[in-house]
Amino acid sequence: MLWEEHPLLNSLRKRELHGECGECALKSICGGCRGRTFCLTGDPMASDPYCMRPVQL
Ligand code: SF4
Repeated sequence: MLWEEHPLLNSLRKRELHGECGECALKSICGGCRGRTFCLTGDPMASDPYCMRPVQL
């Protein structure tokens, strides 16, 4: 079934994020906005360009 097996959806569920989001200690509870990131970068797994976190944790 597409919902259970699509590679992109599985990557989103596993939080296989790139860049700062991928390294961030908050990625399991935040993860950034994937829709916004896709619209702005073309990569749904890229780091969220509008991260509001004040400092790297
Ligand atoms: S948006 Fe910011 S706080 Fe959230 S996971 Fe990405 S880097 Fe971390």
